[in-house]
Amino acid sequence: MKPNFVTEIIDEHNKTGRFKARVHTRFPPEPNGYLHIGHAKAIYLNYSIARQYNGKFNLRFDDTNPCKEEQEYVDSIIKDVLWLGADYENRLFYASDYFEQMYEYAALLIKKGKAYVCDLNADQIRTSRGTLTAPGKDSPYRNRSTDENLDLFMRMRKGEFPDGAKTLRAKIDMANPNLNLRDPIMYRILHSSHHRTKDAWCIYPTYDFAHGLEDSIENITHSICTLEFENHRPLYDWFLDQLGIFHPQQIEFARLNITYTVLSKRKLLELVEGNFVSGWDDPRMPTLAGLRRRGYPKEALHNFCEEIGVAKFNSTIDVGVLEESVRGILNKTAARVMAVLRPLKVTIVNLPEGAVEELEAVNNPEDASMGTRKIFFSREIFIEQEDFRENPPKEFFRLSPGREVRLRYAYFIKCEEVIKDKEGNIIELRCSYDPQTRGGNSPDGRKVKATIHWVCASHSFDAQVNLYDRLFNNPDPEKTEEGKDFKSNINPRSLETINNAKLEPSLKGAQSGQRYQFERLGYFCLDSESSGKNLVFNRISTLRDTWAKIEKKLKR
Ligand code: ATP
Ligand code: MG
Repeated sequence: MKPNFVTEIIDEHNKTGRFKARVHTRFPPEPNGYLHIGHAKAIYLNYSIARQYNGKFNLRFDDTNPCKEEQEYVDSIIKDVLWLGADYENRLFYASDYFEQMYEYAALLIKKGKAYVCDLNADQIRTSRGTLTAPGKDSPYRNRSTDENLDLFMRMRKGEFPDGAKTLRAKIDMANPNLNLRDPIMYRILHSSHHRTKDAWCIYPTYDFAHGLEDSIENITHSICTLEFENHRPLYDWFLDQLGIFHPQQIEFARLNITYTVLSKRKLLELVEGNFVSGWDDPRMPTLAGLRRRGYPKEALHNFCEEIGVAKFNSTIDVGVLEESVRGILNKTAARVMAVLRPLKVTIVNLPEGAVEELEAVNNPEDASMGTRKIFFSREIFIEQEDFRENPPKEFFRLSPGREVRLRYAYFIKCEEVIKDKEGNIIELRCSYDPQTRGGNSPDGRKVKATIHWVCASHSFDAQVNLYDRLFNNPDPEKTEEGKDFKSNINPRSLETINNAKLEPSLKGAQSGQRYQFERLGYFCLDSESSGKNLVFNRISTLRDTWAKIEKKLKR
């Protein structure tokens, strides 16, 4: 990564020898949902920094809350982290493997007079906490003896008390200006089966108590997290200092926010459970599984993360920046092919029936090494309905009666006749072609104002094409009318399915996940669930930022 405030902190540590020039980072997801692009930013940051300093990078599941965590999420997270290329080597850890050690640390704090068992319920704890301007009130259980605390804590573990009956709290300062230091909860009783430890435990540590211990146990040097935890850092430090164990440095950075996008596992889960999308890997989702299925190459995400950098202040990135990162990669790497989404039949009247001509098409003009391929031209072809107007407005230069255009990689054609059905719908065009213009150039220097794509009717096949648009139609999906939530901003036209697009034959050999540019239409990818004869292509993005154009127009 380019130099940033995190690398500056590390450089300073390396100068002073704080960690003996060691750098060890981690990515600590809670397995309560699929990873999203915000997590990609955190992974990229932690992994790149470790690599840059010849350090180490751990993947650690922060699985301390049994209620929302599942094995499915563990599996998906591992897959996504590996897909991004963040190699944690053999360092895959689970906070739940440290439960015994954490219990012992808690007991040690009790013995040091730094923790106590409290019988207040959640409501009572909240109300006795005070406010930003008023101090809190000491719990009546604050001065229990060490022996009583140890005994009660052990019995909490044994399962003698119901959920919520008792907590273990740190004994810090109920008047501290930082509310996080007002005797925060370290353990709560939850008679709930854990996806890994099953029923071995009925008390679970809170994030604040557990996280620093996890980092310390793994010898993490730099514990990088998002800004919300800045006010928790004094607590992170307090636990480690009281225990006198290895003390990593917590560093906070601004989380990623993107326009037209929600980045919160809880909200993404709502979209999945409410069937607003087809699943966590729906190509419209900002999850890594969704982006991957949509066709985003991981390099696009790397470039995106590199470009947005890391900062100390929250901001929102325009989703156009993400879309541009995919175009930047695919413009150079995706083979260009021709497909017609909404076909209009064109008969080339001066070509005999049955004649098939082979033409050569360039696979990617940006990269000659990608070579050429054969395409076929015959009496019946398809063009895009949009590329013809019977009564063309002034700025329309494509096909219209009497007008000539270029067929990409083929010939000039001229519209001679428009055929309509009984209702007046245009069902066919009859055009002539100029054999002198093979390859798309006229020997007499005649110019045409438009080049359109097309496919040969006898040498093309039908496929399904999914056109995706933004999932939300408000740049800030959280901004809603009163009484509504972010789901009211869902874009009802975020998916358009076309069942009978016409594709050039070379696409029959497409492999799952393979990416193409459909000329003039955008970047597309063969859906990973697509199988056998029924091919399904997903649009990854349009060729240009069409929204930016629309927004500009609206502003005018
Ligand atoms: P969410 O709010 O989506 O549920 P989370 O922060 O609760 O996310 P965790 O599993 O705790 O999810 O996150 C693992 C790591 O990813 C944390 O270190 C967190 O700071 C980081 N992270 C989560 N969301 C973002 C984001 N939008 N931008 C950058 N980093 C993020
Ligand atoms: Mg969380």
